[in-house]
Amino acid sequence: MAGGVPIHYGKRLVTAEQAPDGVTAIFADGTTAAAEVLIGADGIRSTVRTLIDPEAPGPEYQGVLSFGGYTSGSGVPAEPGTMYFAFGRTFIGYWRLPDDRVCWFAGLPRTHPLTSAEVARVPAAEWLARLRDRYVGHVPGQALLAHADPRPLMAVGPMERMPSVPHWHRGRMVLVGDSAHAPSSSSGQGASQAIESAIELARCLRDLPTPAAAFTAHEHLRRSRVEMIGGNAAATNRAKAGQAGDKPAMPPPSRCSPPSTATTSTGTRPWPPTTTSPASDPALPGHHNARKGETRASRLSQTRPLMGSAWSHPRRGAPGGPGLGAAGDDLRARPARRPAPPPARPRVPAAAAPV
Ligand SMILES: Cc1cc2nc3c(=O)[nH]c(=O)nc-3n(C[C@H](O)[C@H](O)[C@H](O)COP(=O)(O)OP(=O)(O)OC[C@H]3O[C@@H](n4cnc5c(N)ncnc54)[C@H](O)[C@@H]3O)c2cc1C
Repeated sequence: MAGGVPIHYGKRLVTAEQAPDGVTAIFADGTTAAAEVLIGADGIRSTVRTLIDPEAPGPEYQGVLSFGGYTSGSGVPAEPGTMYFAFGRTFIGYWRLPDDRVCWFAGLPRTHPLTSAEVARVPAAEWLARLRDRYVGHVPGQALLAHADPRPLMAVGPMERMPSVPHWHRGRMVLVGDSAHAPSSSSGQGASQAIESAIELARCLRDLPTPAAAFTAHEHLRRSRVEMIGGNAAATNRAKAGQAGDKPAMPPPSRCSPPSTATTSTGTRPWPPTTTSPASDPALPGHHNARKGETRASRLSQTRPLMGSAWSHPRRGAPGGPGLGAAGDDLRARPARRPAPPPARPRVPAAAAPV
């Protein structure tokens, strides 16, 4: 965008035609756009995914309907500026708003999925009653839901994730973000991984001689990391859906991971921290297990060894292109069993038609 790439709103891709030297995107309004490559950043219900592989899997329901709402006067303590994740038999996340209400999000197990429209057809008061039943005995879920107002209840809809997508690219078309690896909201990682993949794909296109080489390198660099994150989220989802027996929606902090390091926007620090106060480390969003009275960071990536190892790229050490940052930026980890990337090649220009 900084480079002047135009954005056209209201276009819906319906199909694409590939040629040896380019691809033409065809939109519902009859217009077309030709480019060297077509990048399918079109989300969990991706059209480009089906154009690449008509047999590609679709989103997988996770057995949970997601809701959000507001509570006043529950007496549940919540420091401003801190997001709390309370695990146990099930899960509730919450934080205090500037107007002193508490905003929360929670899940309701349901074997068969409902679409967002079907969820919306059921009165909010009925959903809230079901949530209250589900959270009886949960601290602080029971108190938050007891005082929740049904009127602004947010019915987010079915929680979904993408299973492994066999083909991330074909010819001059490639997937990036949720279209290839939506991990579900339980991971807290979908947008982050979409951004990581987009930057990695841009680097591969910048540095490798052909789209095919760039797409292959991108998949090698990304697949194992995003699938590990999606797999972790799926395990959490099974517990949230009540499909894991008495297993809690998240293991107690002492069983989460061995002491390690946490990578945050302000650097890397020993992990877990030595304090038990949610607000004591401003760089780490507080993460209070209300049941256990213990604290940990709010992101899975901070408690598992995903981040921190050096990574190599086809042109590691080379100057970065405009807007992409220098190769070697500490953006993500090298997956444990990642194949060696292709050899370095001269930079080639590549035009892209984002969807
Ligand atoms: C309830 C919930 C909570 C979440 N919480 C977090 C979180 O805490 N942290 C986090 O990192 N992530 C979170 N996520 C995930 C995050 O929102 C997604 O992973 C992220 O938005 C994926 O980005 P994307 O660009 O790949 O796809 P999207 O954001 O889905 O964008 C796809 C775009 O493509 C457009 N499109 C689709 N089809 C076509 C077509 N045929 N033609 C033209 N355009 C098309 C869509 O309109 C959309 O604008 C959450 C998701 C949900 C549902």
